[in-house]
Amino acid sequence: MSETVVTVVGGGLAGSEATWQLLNRGVRVRLFEMRPHRLTPAHRTGYLAELVCSNSLRSKEITTGAGLLKAELHMAGSIVMEAALRAEVPAGSALAVDREVFSRYITDKLQGNPNLEIIREEVKEIPPPPCIIATGPLTSDALSEALKGVLGSEHLYFYDAIAPVVDADSIDYSKVFRASRYGKGGDDYLNCPLNKEEYDRFYQALIEADTVTPRDFEEERVFEGCMPIEVMARRGKDTLRFGPMKPVGLIDPRTGKEPYAVVQLRVENKEATAYNLVGFQTRLRWPEQKRVFRLIPGLERAEFLRYGSMHRNTFINGPRFLNRDLSLKPLDGVYLAGQITGVEGYIESTAMGLVAALSVYMRLMGKEFIPPPPETAHGALLRYVTESPERGFQPSNINFGLLPPLRERIKDKRRKKEALARRALEAWQRYLQEFVYS
Ligand SMILES: Cc1cc2nc3c(=O)[nH]c(=O)nc-3n(C[C@H](O)[C@H](O)[C@H](O)COP(=O)(O)OP(=O)(O)OC[C@H]3O[C@@H](n4cnc5c(N)ncnc54)[C@H](O)[C@@H]3O)c2cc1C
Repeated sequence: MSETVVTVVGGGLAGSEATWQLLNRGVRVRLFEMRPHRLTPAHRTGYLAELVCSNSLRSKEITTGAGLLKAELHMAGSIVMEAALRAEVPAGSALAVDREVFSRYITDKLQGNPNLEIIREEVKEIPPPPCIIATGPLTSDALSEALKGVLGSEHLYFYDAIAPVVDADSIDYSKVFRASRYGKGGDDYLNCPLNKEEYDRFYQALIEADTVTPRDFEEERVFEGCMPIEVMARRGKDTLRFGPMKPVGLIDPRTGKEPYAVVQLRVENKEATAYNLVGFQTRLRWPEQKRVFRLIPGLERAEFLRYGSMHRNTFINGPRFLNRDLSLKPLDGVYLAGQITGVEGYIESTAMGLVAALSVYMRLMGKEFIPPPPETAHGALLRYVTESPERGFQPSNINFGLLPPLRERIKDKRRKKEALARRALEAWQRYLQEFVYS
């Protein structure tokens, strides 16, 4: 093994996982973590891999994106999964943890490793390669400035505004119609038409729905340019009809007329297995999104692959700046990991820590990095952050909509998800055997 020391910046979920994976392969690591001397607005302790909010790592069922990703992480010897299983508390089908036991386990296990040096310091400049930057959604200002210097200030984002995404198979196609406004752009959009009565009912539910309260450090004013749908609605009964629900230029072929209002659905992936609700970024609580958005004609039985959200989040335009191995295009040997790559969530960030570590390890071994196949949850996420359209790129959590469709169509939802999960786990097993453990 080479004597090269890899620098990892940020001892959160991704940085801890990356460090662990490198140490396990005999690589020496210098890990910089600014806590406890300098806390982020959300972290409270000096532990590595602190969970900043919920203590749930979401579903354990492999027929969900989160469950599948965790199963893959487990197969790859993830320290985050090891700690989660040690710290598990009862939570039905979810994997919830005692947060202190969880983070302490990871901290103790990493601290004891002779090949690791932990430096409790804020990193203000991009370190020399090889390095992995895993400083998360609350990356410190100084390092954010350094990243801006390389990427350009317009390509480092500080807030995300995510619209919900629904499963294409769950849309009622007898109620929606395909069209682009004024016929420009072909039949790119699915349009859900609302009459006055339907609009009134939807509007009332929307303005009365329960929302998530922004944290102290998430100032409302930054959302002026990209306002939550419910905030816009509260400005007046017709505001949405002149905004994201504008019907002009959209003729419903069944009536030959413009509807009273329209919700447009834009295709989310090449395979057209998922659609997002255009302009519907929202702070509504998840059950409320399901209840209120199912009032839209055509979406009565919509399955939500991803819920909308808006919060403080540092991330880059991955498709523009990241190579397939998570290295930065403009800086050779500098890799990103975790939420900053454009994934969303604890386990997604962990997964991008694992992938970054594998990439760096391959580089040290002088081997070409082979990305995990897109049929796997890891491969699908990696493809999302490196190959999505650059324009309008927003972070994503893992969901089955990111996986390529099955060759044969299975109508039964449960069986379809089982088949997708089986295919993913087999592909992941093969990948680990051929490229990771060989
Ligand atoms: C307020 C908030 C709540 C969230 N709640 C959830 C939730 O409930 N469930 C969920 O799945 N996801 C949640 N997320 C999203 C996200 O998945 C987590 O933030 C996750 O911890 C991201 O992992 P990470 O490793 O990329 O970053 P982090 O876990 O945040 O780790 C980054 C680390 O880098 C350190 N750091 C930052 N800058 C520097 C620097 N310049 N030098 C040295 N160290 C530095 C930080 O102190 C931190 O320890 C939340 C995000 C936020 C902001």
